[in-house]
Amino acid sequence: MKIAILSGKGGTGKTTVATNLALNYKNAILVDADVEEPNSHIFIKPVVTNEKSVFKNYPVVDMEKCDLCGDCGRFCKYNAILPAKNKVLVFKEICHDCGGCEIVCKKNAISYDEREIGKIFSGNGIADIRFLYGDLNVGEVSGVKIISELREIVKDEEIVIIDAPPGTSCAAVEAVEGVDYAVIVSEPTPFGVSDMKMVVEMLGNMKIPFGVVVNKAGLGNDEIYEYCSGKNIEVLENIPFSEEIAKMYAVGEMMCSGDEKYNLYFKNIISKITDMK
Ligand code: SF4
Ligand code: SF4
Repeated sequence: MKIAILSGKGGTGKTTVATNLALNYKNAILVDADVEEPNSHIFIKPVVTNEKSVFKNYPVVDMEKCDLCGDCGRFCKYNAILPAKNKVLVFKEICHDCGGCEIVCKKNAISYDEREIGKIFSGNGIADIRFLYGDLNVGEVSGVKIISELREIVKDEEIVIIDAPPGTSCAAVEAVEGVDYAVIVSEPTPFGVSDMKMVVEMLGNMKIPFGVVVNKAGLGNDEIYEYCSGKNIEVLENIPFSEEIAKMYAVGEMMCSGDEKYNLYFKNIISKITDMK
């Protein structure tokens, strides 16, 4: 079973839920696919035993063959290749590696070179949790390729928990593609609910079943419960706002690595998810 943990925005407790679920889910492998800002490793504290670079292709134009027809530039919707007066300019940082410009070039003037856009690290962490995470290099605009490689690595694993990027970007879509279930983590505040609605819409379009975990319950108001009830969305758990939890988070400690009482929240979420199978 593959479970993605999402949120409408950063800082809602997505990583707290992902890491503590992994700690409580027998034989789970945890994947931090929030590659622009991975932080699960701060809590999981893995001993990294493997590290691999992720590469992306970009076009290289042979000006001996190119007649500056402009087809590649017209095709590229990202404006990453631009035939100019005397040469073809390539903006490799914004190239999405779709391969289309090579196909449309009638002069066979385009080939590809590759460059590193980030890395994937793996190892075992606290309580021997198997863990991997991607890290996008500073200045890179898209981590989709790293996320797709992370997914490929765990495709045959039985229990996978994916800490997905926040929001509804291409990276978030890539991280949740093909999962069996999604958990949206949200705070019970008007902003939290508003951001969550976009994620609800995305999951609806992707036909992925999901439930909601309300983090910092007790803050804000009842809008999130009214919204979920109106849309028939199951609230899987309420994790209360607590100074003790906030302090543990601030020093990189997992809720469930200390007091046993916190495990119950996550065991409850797991039991509700597994009952839906
Ligand atoms: S499509 Fe090919 S020939 Fe035309 S401008 Fe681009 S690289 Fe040059
Ligand atoms: S590979 Fe795709 S994204 Fe990159 S320059 Fe060519 S058409 Fe544009």
